[in-house]
Amino acid sequence: MCGIFAYYGPKKNAPKLVIEGLKKLEYRGYDSWGIAYKIPNDIIIHKKIGKISDVKIKDLNPAQSNISIGHSRWATHGGVTQKNAHPHFTENKEIVLVHNGILENYLTIKKDLIKKGHKFISETDTEVIAHLIEEYCKKHSFEDSVKLAIKEMEGRYAIVVMKKDENEIIAARKGSPLIIGVGENKNEYFIASDIPAFLAYTNKVIYLDDNQLAFINNKKTSFFDIEENAHIQKRKVQIDWDIESAEKGQFPHFMIKEITEQKDTLSRAINQDPKIIERVANEIKKAYGTYLVGCGTAGKVCMVGEYLFAKIAKKHINFKFGSEFRSQKNFLTNKSLMIAVSQSGETADTLEAIEIAKQKGVKIVAIVNAENSSIARMADIVIPIKAGIEKAVASTKATTSQLAILTLLAYACNGGINEGKQLLISTASQINDMLNPRYEQHIMKLAKKIKDVESMYIIGRNANYPIALEAAIKLQEVSYIHAEGFAGGELKHGPIALISKNTPVIVLVENNEYRNEILSNAIEVKARGGYIIGVSPIKEEVFDFWIKVPDTGDSYPIVNIIPVQILAYQLAVLRKNNPDMPRNLAKSVTVK
Ligand code: GLU
Repeated sequence: MCGIFAYYGPKKNAPKLVIEGLKKLEYRGYDSWGIAYKIPNDIIIHKKIGKISDVKIKDLNPAQSNISIGHSRWATHGGVTQKNAHPHFTENKEIVLVHNGILENYLTIKKDLIKKGHKFISETDTEVIAHLIEEYCKKHSFEDSVKLAIKEMEGRYAIVVMKKDENEIIAARKGSPLIIGVGENKNEYFIASDIPAFLAYTNKVIYLDDNQLAFINNKKTSFFDIEENAHIQKRKVQIDWDIESAEKGQFPHFMIKEITEQKDTLSRAINQDPKIIERVANEIKKAYGTYLVGCGTAGKVCMVGEYLFAKIAKKHINFKFGSEFRSQKNFLTNKSLMIAVSQSGETADTLEAIEIAKQKGVKIVAIVNAENSSIARMADIVIPIKAGIEKAVASTKATTSQLAILTLLAYACNGGINEGKQLLISTASQINDMLNPRYEQHIMKLAKKIKDVESMYIIGRNANYPIALEAAIKLQEVSYIHAEGFAGGELKHGPIALISKNTPVIVLVENNEYRNEILSNAIEVKARGGYIIGVSPIKEEVFDFWIKVPDTGDSYPIVNIIPVQILAYQLAVLRKNNPDMPRNLAKSVTVK
């Protein structure tokens, strides 16, 4: 998590560029922020608790500088305090650095450094890295010291480091994203956790890979690979992202912008090279065990996938959350297949699952939004969902695009890729009709009615069960209302005890063999006083409030989640929460 931004180049307003860049990365972490910049013979540091978006450059009034690094934090080690905010530094600000991720062996290194006389002022793991580099600098050059420190560091991280008496910044990564934008001017570089942060300046990028370092200076910028123990050449790639998709435009929040974009993201998702879809379908058919792996919302998408493959492809597929995947390692062979689903392509738990699988020779398929992400680069086959940049922390358009790809794959496995495509094209056009202001106003009536409730529940059967779980995540993330999803049939085994008068219960209904059973569950809830909100193609008697969704057959998971996304967004706004930056969360979960 966290956003890193750094500038090295001829421009004299580096601190301003860094602040602006960090503002674009705020969705990655926003409990505190900080910048450091070089002036002759010194480094100036500003850091503060709170959001970088509240910072005005004129209040900061930085001196002129052409080298600066910055960070917006998502705390892992140590509370949200000014001392714990990045950049971290050693005595006299000899070494100053920003860090994304976790240094897993920081306690051992810290104890050792304390014995050597180092004094620490924060509770973070990050500060230890600064001191470790400083310790090596006693006997080695700055570049060699960072290399030596990296060799000792365990865990996933990205760092950008400066030294007081060097006209150089060093960037390194292992498991956390860090991308280098190559500026238009000679020797001009932007270093950031994500591309949109510097897209206004350049669309030429160099992707740093794991265990690689970039030495950026005005002599000769170079790259080094720790495993090869050698300098390497890196390729500059031109990317074709458009800058508008990274801006809110006329929308008040990214979340509603991205919900609305589902009018066309679905069509983009299914507009795939059929050869790739067929190739993956063949891999699934010949695999001895396929695992769908994802975390959070992508995890719920994978759970839906299990149902889709069972029904459409008549194929058993396993599902595991990234963080739970290790338990399966005894079953993995070079005939197994993993389908990893991740919006950012940087999810640490999913990356770890891929590493475990790769050690056993498992073939990896990645379904990602960020096409050049770590997960995409580790995979044997990549299916890009093409949803465009998703900035709101709560995933919406990426979710439905991932669902569309899994639906298409399930059809392809059964020899019906064209049938699947037709179904999804018609679903996309029905979503286009559904997403209009009237629809939002209708849901707003419900949002106003339930905005002050303490708890709400969502029930569904079959693939609507994982959709109920996803609906609960959406409501939790942005409305902060206690929300839980259950399988309709499980209600009577415990959760029904939670229902009292007027407890809102969203019932997800599909027009198929499960319809009557889920409606019976709704009637059971109503008998205990529950307020029944039906998301369904058909108006049923049991509903107290009906949200109509189109009847789209096998793609019902896609259409059923959309009204809940809208409801979650509206509840957040009514409850005065910022839906784009929910408390305690961050986009792109790069820590375990
Ligand atoms: N582990 C570091 C800290 O807690 C970095 C967290 C981050 O990635 O923002 O400060």
